[in-house]
Amino acid sequence: MKLEPPSTVAISVDRTDLLSTTDRLAALLSPLGGLSTFVRPGMTVLVKPDLTAGSDGVPETHLELAVQVGRLAQAAGAKVAIGDSPALAEAGVERLWKQTRLEEMAGREGLHLLNIEKSATVPVAVETRIYYLPQPVVEADLIVNLSRRGLNATSRTGGAIGNVFGVLPGFHMGMGAFKGRISQSRRMAQIAVDLFSVLQPGLNIFDALDLQNPAWLAASADAVALDTVIASLAGVDPQTIFSIRYASEAGLGIGWLEAIATEGDVPQAVSRGGRGSRGLTGGVLTGTVADAIGSLVTMKPEIDPARCSDCGICISSCPAGAIRCLPDRIGLTIERRLCISCWRCHESCPKAAIFVRKSWLARQLVG
Ligand code: SF4
Ligand code: SF4
Repeated sequence: MKLEPPSTVAISVDRTDLLSTTDRLAALLSPLGGLSTFVRPGMTVLVKPDLTAGSDGVPETHLELAVQVGRLAQAAGAKVAIGDSPALAEAGVERLWKQTRLEEMAGREGLHLLNIEKSATVPVAVETRIYYLPQPVVEADLIVNLSRRGLNATSRTGGAIGNVFGVLPGFHMGMGAFKGRISQSRRMAQIAVDLFSVLQPGLNIFDALDLQNPAWLAASADAVALDTVIASLAGVDPQTIFSIRYASEAGLGIGWLEAIATEGDVPQAVSRGGRGSRGLTGGVLTGTVADAIGSLVTMKPEIDPARCSDCGICISSCPAGAIRCLPDRIGLTIERRLCISCWRCHESCPKAAIFVRKSWLARQLVG
């Protein structure tokens, strides 16, 4: 049966570990009508993975997923590129492609890798805010948004909506002017939702490496619905995640579990019987109360001057322009009031000189 997007989220569990990625994709997308529902011959398709390296690098399963999605779209007659601009792109995204073996894997399938850092950009306005977005991304007929960072009680970005943040070219990120008196977590979420509203990925797939069971895949034409399900799987009230709340309030998708159809291997947490799972925040900490608690759960970057080599990579990777070399200070300074806790500096520092300082409440919540 073919179900109409955007309110359906399909979930697939790899129970045997014997299926290929292609088989798993086919099983996952079947309740949504298969890949042919999204890809038509002659389309230009951008596959947007998350190439941000964690402590264990970029998982090979995620790269394989990106390549297989690209291969299937290409076989359906689309012109496909794979592109992302993670923080490490500042040190050369081509090097990252090699290090992760993405170049080799994509090359084997004849897939083009898009260097977002070197792409021409076009200014895009969202209300009074201007973003400089890569032209090939803006002009793509379809964006397949592959995310892998989950959503939890302290999430600033993550999930499918947050993953769109990675299309901003590093060197232009600071030019996405965002002004106004607004908390950092709200500002970060609003930037993600701004970008999401412009680009509106047509297909969103999440591989659940951040969840307890590493074998989940979930997909939807509605990224907001997908994030709502992912947050619920993590035991979090989706409406306490600013990106979900803003996007659903803007009519960009559905942010209430009760209004989303789930298909496939639906876990208890999001099944009909399990609805109402309220997780860590108890499902009641919205609005002002959530803001007040959120302001106590702070995690801020700090620079260890003993390790810093003054290479400046963190300065150019910071989207908020928060890292500066002040004339009256030795070494670099991070301006707290500007920092939006995106962790690009932490991820991009080649000397591991930027560490995370957590508030007392953040340590209690996330260790
Ligand atoms: S903190 Fe890291 S990235 Fe920034 S200047 Fe120092 S060594 Fe370079
Ligand atoms: S200083 Fe703050 S805003 Fe800038 S890259 Fe680091 S975490 Fe992001």
